[in-house]
Amino acid sequence: MTDLTSELTPDTLPMAFAQLQLAAPLARAVADMGYESMTPIQAQAIPVVLQGRDVMGAAQTGTGKTAAFALPLLQRMLKHESSSTSPARHPVRALVLLPTRELADQVAQSIKDYAKYTQLRSAVVFGGMDMKPQTIELKKGVEILVATPGRLLDHIEAKNAVLNQVEYVVLDEADRMLDIGFLPDLQRILSYLPKQRITLLFSATFSPEIKRLASSYLQDPVTIEVARSNATASTVEQHFYSVGDDEKRHALHQILKQRGMKQAFVFVNSKLGCARLARSLEREGLKTTALHGDKSQDERLKALEAFKSGAVDLLVCTDVAARGLDIKDVPAVFNFDVPFSAEDYVHRIGRTGRAGASGLAVTFVSKSDARLVGEIEKLIKTKIEMEAVEYDEDVPDIRKQGRINDGRRLYAEGAPDATSRPERPRRDYTRPTPASRDPFFDKPYVAAPSTAEAPAWEAAASRHGPRSISTNIKSKRRVAALFKA
Ligand code: AMP
Repeated sequence: MTDLTSELTPDTLPMAFAQLQLAAPLARAVADMGYESMTPIQAQAIPVVLQGRDVMGAAQTGTGKTAAFALPLLQRMLKHESSSTSPARHPVRALVLLPTRELADQVAQSIKDYAKYTQLRSAVVFGGMDMKPQTIELKKGVEILVATPGRLLDHIEAKNAVLNQVEYVVLDEADRMLDIGFLPDLQRILSYLPKQRITLLFSATFSPEIKRLASSYLQDPVTIEVARSNATASTVEQHFYSVGDDEKRHALHQILKQRGMKQAFVFVNSKLGCARLARSLEREGLKTTALHGDKSQDERLKALEAFKSGAVDLLVCTDVAARGLDIKDVPAVFNFDVPFSAEDYVHRIGRTGRAGASGLAVTFVSKSDARLVGEIEKLIKTKIEMEAVEYDEDVPDIRKQGRINDGRRLYAEGAPDATSRPERPRRDYTRPTPASRDPFFDKPYVAAPSTAEAPAWEAAASRHGPRSISTNIKSKRRVAALFKA
């Protein structure tokens, strides 16, 4: 296995897209997106994929990973462009597999954006939707197919998707696919593909399972690691508040008001808690919607749209439903429940402070959360200081309003949301997920230099999507400082 991280330094990396000599239709699409410089994962992965090497990449969504694999794959596939309407001239050549419907939808949209000036066709298939429209699209012929594993197998079985001409496979968010239990489905899908192909695997962690998957399906891959949330984490201000279980909603109202926050993600640990909290906040006058695994696909997409368009202010969500979603301009993330896994904490706070914007991450910690907070402390290698919420008199104390309509207390501690799965795997793969032993998590965060100018790609991203963060947010305690060893 070649380790690229030791061979390339920022000085030797081709940082500007112009240096890549992308084909004109791709360069034009990149310019339309407002990108100027490459993100670190792009700078490292694009040249390698262009050379036709397999890649094992440690990078999460939000780092520019989609363009890192999509642009070089599109460039390599341009030789297959065809204006013919015959489906036979548009066989599937690239397959991109993702764990959740939302991620598949998001990645497919990005690929469409990058391919818009080419004649390469792309489509997305995922469960929870009628198979018919997907079948019609597949039958017309597409070069790039983005899919979740379960639904792809349905299409393979129905002979709607023929994969014998696939040249490129991307296993995106591979760790999550294994967590969910998609391994048997992945193995089956990979068995249908030609052996001669390029395989790219992206994962937030390189756990032993991921390494095993890589050694079975990748050939002499180049390993690429970018520091997790490197550039974005330094822009997130983190606070941990000590609160009682029945005080959390009151605290949420207070902090929203105090900060003048308009929009936020509110993370909870269970689907039940998610739906209830959304209902209560809505009743308390906050425009709120819920995003969790029990919602239909249509409802989930509508919830996302409502948040993106500003029709709702709070998106209450579970980890599985929200993982990797690229919603720009989320000024704040509230951990209404401390996540059961410290890694989920990092994923959650990665929703805010993206692509150079600054953000706020607030975690409500009740007495029983001490162990979980200890694990977060270990992961981020930083002493967490607990703070107390100071309430204004005019912020209503919701605790005094008693029980909610359905007669249950709102915030009784919930069990982990084990059933909150994005798509049910076909076979039961019940092996418990071991705690991460990944050395990736043993490294401290590499914080972006606080005095240096923001990298050009961040500036471009900010221009592309202006953030609506309140000026009330003062960077009291930046993550860069928090993460100091
Ligand atoms: P991804 O990790 O692929 O989900 O990308 C995260 C966000 O970064 C998306 O909104 C992209 O449009 C944006 N992005 C990707 N590459 C760049 C770049 N080179 N410059 C600015 N923004 C980018």
